[in-house]
Amino acid sequence: MAQMIVGGAPRSATNGAVTEIRNPANGEVVDTAPRGEAADVAEAVEAAARALPDWARTAPHRRAALLLRAAERIGEHAAELASLLTREQGKPLRESGLEIARFGDILRYYAGLADKLRGEYVPLAERDKYGLVVHQPIGVCAAIVPWNYPVHLMGSKIAPALVAGNTVVVKPASTTPLTSIRCVELFLEAGLPAGVLNVVTGPGGTVGEALLVHPAVRKIAFTGETATGKHVMEVAAREVKRVTLELGGSDPMIVCDDADLDAAAAAATVNRFWNAGQTCIAAKRLYVFETVADEFVGKLVGRVERLKVGDGLARDTRMGPLHTARQREEVEAMVADAVARGATVIAGGARPDGDEYARGNYYLPTLLEHVDPASRIAREECFGPALPIFRVPDLDAAIAGANDSPYGLGSSVWTRDLARARAAAARLEAGYTWINAVQLDHDELPFGGVKQSGYGKERGVEALAYYTESKSIVVAS
Ligand code: NDP
Repeated sequence: MAQMIVGGAPRSATNGAVTEIRNPANGEVVDTAPRGEAADVAEAVEAAARALPDWARTAPHRRAALLLRAAERIGEHAAELASLLTREQGKPLRESGLEIARFGDILRYYAGLADKLRGEYVPLAERDKYGLVVHQPIGVCAAIVPWNYPVHLMGSKIAPALVAGNTVVVKPASTTPLTSIRCVELFLEAGLPAGVLNVVTGPGGTVGEALLVHPAVRKIAFTGETATGKHVMEVAAREVKRVTLELGGSDPMIVCDDADLDAAAAAATVNRFWNAGQTCIAAKRLYVFETVADEFVGKLVGRVERLKVGDGLARDTRMGPLHTARQREEVEAMVADAVARGATVIAGGARPDGDEYARGNYYLPTLLEHVDPASRIAREECFGPALPIFRVPDLDAAIAGANDSPYGLGSSVWTRDLARARAAAARLEAGYTWINAVQLDHDELPFGGVKQSGYGKERGVEALAYYTESKSIVVAS
């Protein structure tokens, strides 16, 4: 039975309750995790508050050294962690391996920045005084994480928080707590002081809510659905808590008439079907110029039909099951809605046949054409392996369609004309635009959405500003 980690020690829920964590590939119970409640949150926040003064005073290079040691421990346990992640989340083992590797990378990236955080000296108009601007930790931070990238999205919150001198309480998604708990255990083995990093497991409606309202939590870093994010922002506003929100997306991918169609088809396959389509920055709408549409769609269908669907633990699997039965039902409902409005299924569109698929949440990678732009799959976030393809006459039409969404997370453009690509990037309403590149986020670049896709940034040097408060000091000389 997995345990929460509070004040450096494992712990069950105060009420003794547990949640079964099930493997999306076959429904088997992988393990149980405590089903915590507000009392557990209170203890974790108090432990984080007690650890704060010493951690905030710890020399930055020492904080960095601890993160580096933790990254080393994660690397030593990479195979075990990747297997656990596949069993609780469903993604193929090679994707889990990459996620664990990226967790180590993000720890190393921020460890490298720990001793580069500086303040400023500011000359003042009154010449017998000068100003200083110092950057202080915010305090106890809550990291609320979804189930699609439980480890990497925990890393993008805890790494900048810790190097900046904050302490943290992590709340993983109810269905994916196991790998996160194991990672935090490895932090403790690496020597992280008790209380600096805590994990409380349990439902969003109780454990998450208790974190939002706890007066000692000064900042909430949240990744999840836009609807939940709006609620987080509302509750945080009552006590003017700091928030960063990484929310839903419906990224457009544009393929122009002069694009490298083979490369674009390969990228579209990854962009949409990586993690069974359950990626915030997945390409969720594809716009292709009419003149090359037949050729491009032919190439894409060929690639998509070759994607091997199966249990993530099998070496030849390229796409695993959806994370939950509810998630699959949602995708099925969106495909049915599109078909009812006249769409044509040109690949997939059903659950795969066969005994090996009977107990998992499998769905075939799906492509749709002739989709009514008013369909749910075009208007909402489709968090699964189904891609609507729209044929457009030119770039203006592609950009108009792309921007006609409440979301603004990522976007991509495929063209050999870089001037055209840069012009498109300037007009696309999104926090990220990839030009002739797979929609893969980079730790070195700030990440975050515009419109209803988020507020604030994670990653990059920029993220540190979201974990510090600047303070002005005036010195009379
Ligand atoms: P949810 O919003 O349902 O949940 C996210 C986290 O919030 C979970 O830990 C959840 O706990 C918790 N939570 C739920 N309700 C509350 C509450 N009232 N107060 C506090 N916490 C709460 O999102 P999903 O887990 O379904 O994640 C998928 C979504 O995440 C997609 O929309 C996706 O686009 C988005 N996402 C955005 C990214 C970005 O960077 N922009 C990156 C990755 C995903 P519990 O599990 O217990 O319900």
